[in-house]
Amino acid sequence: MRKIPVGLVILTFFLGFLTSCQQATVQGEEEQEQNKTGFPQLPSDDPRIHVVSKIAEYKNYQYAIHYPKIEAEIWNKEMKTWVKKKVQEFEDEVTTLSTPDQRWPYELHIDFEIFDLTDEIISVKFNESKFLGGAHTEERTFTYNFDRKDGKFIELAHLFKERSNYLKLLSDLAYEKLMDIPEMQELVWDEHFQAGIDPVENNFESFALNKGKLLIFFQRYQVGPNSIGSPMIEFTAEELQAMLKSGQLDIFEQPDAGEGKETLEQLVPEDKPALDPNKKHVALTFDDGPHNSVTPQILDLLAKHDAHATFFVLGNRVEFHPELLVRIMKEGHEIGNHSWSHPQLTNLSEAEVKAQISKTNDEIEKIIGEKAKFIRPPYGAVNEMTRQYIDFPIINWTVDPKDWKSRDSEAVFLEVKKQVFDGAIILMHDIYPSTADALANVLVWLDEEGYQVVTVSDLLETDDKHSLEAGKVYSSQSN
Ligand code: ZN
Repeated sequence: MRKIPVGLVILTFFLGFLTSCQQATVQGEEEQEQNKTGFPQLPSDDPRIHVVSKIAEYKNYQYAIHYPKIEAEIWNKEMKTWVKKKVQEFEDEVTTLSTPDQRWPYELHIDFEIFDLTDEIISVKFNESKFLGGAHTEERTFTYNFDRKDGKFIELAHLFKERSNYLKLLSDLAYEKLMDIPEMQELVWDEHFQAGIDPVENNFESFALNKGKLLIFFQRYQVGPNSIGSPMIEFTAEELQAMLKSGQLDIFEQPDAGEGKETLEQLVPEDKPALDPNKKHVALTFDDGPHNSVTPQILDLLAKHDAHATFFVLGNRVEFHPELLVRIMKEGHEIGNHSWSHPQLTNLSEAEVKAQISKTNDEIEKIIGEKAKFIRPPYGAVNEMTRQYIDFPIINWTVDPKDWKSRDSEAVFLEVKKQVFDGAIILMHDIYPSTADALANVLVWLDEEGYQVVTVSDLLETDDKHSLEAGKVYSSQSN
């Protein structure tokens, strides 16, 4: 995020900060897309936040959508409905388009940033980007604010006194604040700009609460040309005082949580067996996690077979699962970087690609004391350009049992059996219970067939002890 000197306006908003309250214990949860009974319910007294990631990859289109799931069913239901609607809209849109003639499919990507997160409130902004061919990406932001005490969504109007002309106040203040951006000054008489801050509800519908302040997000092109980006402006309770319901922003004020994170104990990985030259080798890799219940199940199975694997994690889930990252490392497995929020990197700018990688690595390093050594690009998608932006070896795969699609443990097991070979890298996902079920059989069978299950590092660095090259793609031992 880049701050304008006045500190009020933030122009670039692709990733932003996730200012989540570190005191909350949070875990991940996956929606079972093809499970008609819906995804498992949390006990209603569970105060934790879980992250739901809905990821799919079809021939013509693909999507990755993430949202926080909380203790309130009314929130979860709204999120689920909204995400379903987003996918439906996107699928409808895609059917009106011709088969993508470029190399990459159409894409929908929605990630979230949490602003306030207290016992009283959760304030979330969603960043949507849609790639529908050409060089053009559509971007939009959406916000949801929820009162956890009353179990109700917060509308902007709720913050203000009844019958007060708060929209006029916001509009006037927005004008002043936007004028602090030098590039905005020449747009003052532009109709676009005027229309974008007119005192109508629509213009201010994207808002969040953050430490006693009201934030308004403008859409791209709402108040100016593309170069202006999606500006955000902040209002203090003082500025809105005249029209604010008494104490309305103050009640959401939270003391600075500070660095509430516990210091994690020194990480000493367990010993693992040396590579057995008389055996065949495979590397199992697990993407899109960590997940609060599936990842531990997978770790238990791996331990039972003295097998070691590589987990390509998503940054936006990592921060909710520090304990799982620690366990992965302690048990002799390896952590790889699968980006922050699973966008197709080839649709991003250099800065965005680098941010997806470094933000995730920073999060990993905070927890385990070191960065991931490898990158697995979402959807396995790389081109010449992105390879140059990625300063790490790129690990793809040679065996893909499509576990995310079938969600059928028997089918996954049979596919692995059919495709596996000495030196293969196998792709699976540690966010689906059916994958953990399949793994039980896969590991028994690999043992019987004389395979040693090893980490990517062990598989790729055994033969000639070469170190892997940054920006080069590896998908098996021989490559
Ligand atoms: Zn993935």
